[in-house]
Amino acid sequence: MKIGSTCSITKVGGEGALRQHFLDMGVIPGAQVTIIKYAPLGDPVELMIHGYQLTLRLADAEKIEVDPIDSSSETEHKKAPVNTSIHPGLGEGGKFHQKGHANPLPECEILTFALVGNQNSGKTTLFNQLTGSNQHVGNFPGVTVDRKDGSIKGYPDTRVTDLPGIYSMSPYSSEEIVSRNFVMNDKPKAIINIVDATNIQRNLYLTMQLLEMNVPMVVALNMMDEITTNGGSIDVNKMEAALGVPVVPISAAKNQGIHELIEHAIHIAKYQEKPLRQDFCDENDHNGAVHRGIHAVIHLIEDHAKSADIPVRFAASKVIEGDSLVLDKLALDENEKETIEHIVLQMEKERKLDRSAAIADMRYSFIKKICSAFVHKPGKSKESIRSEKIDRILTGKWTAIPLFIVIMFVISFLTFNVIGGTLQGLLEKGIDALTALTDSALTSLGVNEVLHGLIIDGIFAGVGSVLSFLPIIVTLFFFLSLLEDSGYIARVAFFMDKLLRRIGLSGRSIVPMLIGFGCTVPAVMSTRTLPSERDRKMTILLTPFMSCTAKMPIYAFFVDAFFPKYKALILTGLYLLGIVISILIALVFKRTIFKGEAVPFVMELPNYRLPSAKNVGQLLWEKAKDFLHRAFTVIFIATIIIWLLQSFGPHFNLVTNQHDSILAIIAGWLAPLMIPVGLGDWRICTALISGFMAKESVVSTLDILYGQDITSVMTAASAASLLVFSLLYTPCVAAIASIRRELGIKWALGVVLWQCFIAWTAALIVHLISMLF
Ligand code: GDP
Ligand code: MG
Repeated sequence: MKIGSTCSITKVGGEGALRQHFLDMGVIPGAQVTIIKYAPLGDPVELMIHGYQLTLRLADAEKIEVDPIDSSSETEHKKAPVNTSIHPGLGEGGKFHQKGHANPLPECEILTFALVGNQNSGKTTLFNQLTGSNQHVGNFPGVTVDRKDGSIKGYPDTRVTDLPGIYSMSPYSSEEIVSRNFVMNDKPKAIINIVDATNIQRNLYLTMQLLEMNVPMVVALNMMDEITTNGGSIDVNKMEAALGVPVVPISAAKNQGIHELIEHAIHIAKYQEKPLRQDFCDENDHNGAVHRGIHAVIHLIEDHAKSADIPVRFAASKVIEGDSLVLDKLALDENEKETIEHIVLQMEKERKLDRSAAIADMRYSFIKKICSAFVHKPGKSKESIRSEKIDRILTGKWTAIPLFIVIMFVISFLTFNVIGGTLQGLLEKGIDALTALTDSALTSLGVNEVLHGLIIDGIFAGVGSVLSFLPIIVTLFFFLSLLEDSGYIARVAFFMDKLLRRIGLSGRSIVPMLIGFGCTVPAVMSTRTLPSERDRKMTILLTPFMSCTAKMPIYAFFVDAFFPKYKALILTGLYLLGIVISILIALVFKRTIFKGEAVPFVMELPNYRLPSAKNVGQLLWEKAKDFLHRAFTVIFIATIIIWLLQSFGPHFNLVTNQHDSILAIIAGWLAPLMIPVGLGDWRICTALISGFMAKESVVSTLDILYGQDITSVMTAASAASLLVFSLLYTPCVAAIASIRRELGIKWALGVVLWQCFIAWTAALIVHLISMLF
C-alpha cells in the first residue's frame, strides 16, 4: 500500500492473544486505516487508526485484509463546537452526576482506588498530582511496570494504586496481567479511569470494559489542555449521561481539575455509587445479534458468576471472547458450555463476524456513536502536526539511524566530557580539600592512628572516590529521561525493530537496553512490558552487558591513569564492546535456547511531548538521592569492611604488611584463577569481589588497598584486561536480585556464573593481545 492511502478493514486474520490485541487496539473490521510511513529499513509500518498512530510489522499487517476507499467521501462531517460556556473551566464537575448519599461505607474503612488507563494516558502524572509523590513519568508505552501506592493528599484514609497501562481487560503482556488482576481480585472500592481525551476513541474501549466490572468509577478526562488549545471540545454532561458515571475534565500535567476529580472519586467510593449503565449493546444493530448473544449468556451464567464473584456482564463478554481464565473460574458444566457454544455460533452467523471481532465491534460502534455526538475534534491538533514534522526527520528514511547515532554520541560527549567532566573535576577538588582538612584536624587532635587510618584511608578515600561520579551519573540520567519523556525512545523501537529482529528480538527490547545504560535494576524491571516470555528472558540476559553508570567510575579511573590520550576512544570502545558482545550472545541464544520468532511488534507511537521541568527535576533528584544513599550505605560499609579486613591479620592483630591481612588471605585463594588474565594480584581480586556489592566500589577498594599511584603498581596490559573484565563480569547484587525476582533463583545464579565466565574469556583474549605490544 502506498503512503498516505486510506482503506477500510474487511477482515482481521491471525489468532489467539495477538489477534485479540489487534482487536483491542481498534483494528476491527470496518475501521479505517491510513498508512503513514514505513520504517527506514522498510519494516515495520506506521498506521493511523482511530486517530492515533500504531506500528505493525509487515508480516502481521498482512493478516489484515483491507478494501481501498475513496478518502474524500469518508471525511468526518464537521460539527460546530459545543458551546464552551457550559464548561468555563476545566475540572468543573458534571451537572449530570447527582451525588447521592445512600449506603455510605463505615467511617473507618480505607477507600482504595485503582488508577486504570491506557499507556501514556497520564496515569503517573495524575498519581503524582493526587499523592504528591515523585514517581517516574515517561512518554513511552509501559514506563509504569509495577504498581505503586500512595494516599491522596489531605485524605489519609485513602489509597491510590498506579497500575501499568492497559488497552483492554484481555491481558497481552505480563504487566497487563498485574492491572487486570488488581481490578478483578483486589477489589478496589472505586476505579479512577484516566482517559486521554486526545485519543478518546481507543481509550473509551477500556472504559467500557471497566464499567462492566460494576465497581464505582469516575472518568478523568485527561489532556483537556491539548483539546481546548486546539479548538476542540467535549460535551462532558452528555458523556456522563451516556456512560452513567461522573466524568471530570482535567489536565494532570497542568494540575487543573484535580481537586474536583478527588471530590467525585471520594464521593463515589464513600457512597459506593456504581455505574448506572453497563449495557452498551444495541438491540437494533444487525438485528441485535450481539445484543441477544450477550444477554442470553448473561442469564445462563448468572449463578456461576455470582459464586465465582465475577461481575456477570464482564464474565459474559469474556466467555463469548473465549477467555480461558474466566471460563476456568466460572466452572460451567458441559451442558452449559455447549449451550454457550450454540449461542455464540448463532451470533457469529447472524453478525457475520467471529466472536472476538463481534464483541470488539459492538464496543467500538457504541464509542463511535457517543463520540460523534459529544466530541468535537479539531481538524488536526498542533501537537500531532508538530509530531509529524519532528518525525519526518527523526524517523525519516535516510535520517533516522544516522541521527540516532549522532544523538547517542552527543549525549555521551556532553555527559563525559563537557558537563559531567567539568563538574566532576570541581567535586574532586572539593573532596580532596575536605580530606586534607580532616586529615590535618585529626593529626592536630592527636587521634589514635588506627582510627585516623580508617577515616582518611578508608572512608574518605573510598566514599570520596565514588562520590565524585555523581555529576556524570545525574547527567546521563537526565538525557535518558529526556529521550524517554519526549517520546523519542518509542520511535527508536520503531526503526530498530528490523535490526533487532535479526538477533531474535523485537524493537520493544531496545527500551530495557537503553535503560540498562543507566542502571540494570530498572532495565530488568522494564522488560515486563515485553509480551512474550522468550523475549523477556532474552532481554534480561542481555541488559547487564550494557555498561551501567556504576561502571563509569571504573572506566574513568583506569583510562585516566593509563590511557589518558585515548580517553574518548576507549570509553566509546568499552560501551560498544558491551553492545557487540550482547549481539553475539543474542545470535547464539537465537540458535540454541531461545529458538523461535520474536513477538509481534504492535505499539502505539505517542505524540512528542515536551517533558515538564518539574518531572525531569524530580527524577534527577530521585537518582541523585539514590546514588548518595548507596554511597553512604553499601559503599560506606563496604569500604569500612575492606579497610578492617586489610588492616588486621587472622589473629585480629594489626598488620604492618598488607600481605598478612585477612583480606589478602581470602583473595589469595581466588588469585590463581585470575593469573592467566593478568589480574592475579590479590588486591585486584578483592576489588572485584567488592564490585559485586556495587560496581563503584571497585575503584574505592583499589584506592584503599594501593593507597598510591596506580600506574606504579599495575601494568597497562592488566589495566586493559581489568577494564574488559569489569565491563562483562557479574552484575551487582541489586541487579541479580531483580533478575531473581523476574526469572527465579536458578537463572540469577546462572547469570553470575556465566557472565564471570564470559568476562574471564574476554579478558584472557585482551590480555594475550596486549602482551604482544
Ligand atoms: P502513563 O504511561 O499513563 O503513566 O503516562 P505518564 O504519566 O507517564 O504521561 C505520559 C506523557 O503525557 C508524559 O509526557 C506527560 O508529561 C504527558 N501528560 C500527562 N498529562 C498531561 C496533560 O494533562 N496534558 C498534557 N499536554 N500532557 C500530559
Ligand atoms: Mg506511568
